[in-house]
Amino acid sequence: MDNCQRCPSLCASRTQIVFPDLPEFGRYCRVLVIGEAPGADEDAQGKGFVGRAGHTLHALMEEHGLRRGHDYGCANIVRCRPPENRKPTDIEIGMCLPNLANTIANARPVAVLAVGETATRAITGIRGLSENLRFLRYHDHDPIPAEMLCNLNIRAMWPHGAKLFPMPHTSPLAWNRNAPDGRKWSAWGREQVSLLAALLPKG
Ligand code: SF4
Repeated sequence: MDNCQRCPSLCASRTQIVFPDLPEFGRYCRVLVIGEAPGADEDAQGKGFVGRAGHTLHALMEEHGLRRGHDYGCANIVRCRPPENRKPTDIEIGMCLPNLANTIANARPVAVLAVGETATRAITGIRGLSENLRFLRYHDHDPIPAEMLCNLNIRAMWPHGAKLFPMPHTSPLAWNRNAPDGRKWSAWGREQVSLLAALLPKG
């Protein structure tokens, strides 16, 4: 796994594999944040969510009393940086999904925060953030039953009762907060993180 070669294009573009990082030893992973893929900063440092979009997310989580390494861990749908920061292909996502399924099984989070359409689609099997939000809101009062996740790899490893929260990618929040889309995504992202924080047992 340290030298996984399953995705030729990603192997050619990565500096290193970016492994998930979960809360410090002995701490309970209340939330697992799942993003799309490592970017340039993550690829250089070997750690996920360390670029500008990542810092935007951490600030939002801290506003709600959640600290990286204490309350939540971070992972990505694919562990290697795509060239030119393109989206990972469906084949690459499929190659890396068993890794993600294992990470979810090990972390056993109460909630999963899926950041961006690609991450949400990979987990649920449903295309489109709006479609995912409608689907998930429909089941708002109960944790999503695992059998409703279309992705079979993820479904098999989903912790009992863990709830899924999709939110927009934090790039528009980090770079384009004042554009109409930035404001819309910002409001939606905040709403999802605040719903998630309200659901969590006190840690
Ligand atoms: S993205 Fe995942 S499956 Fe593809 S080469 Fe990297 S570690 Fe392997």
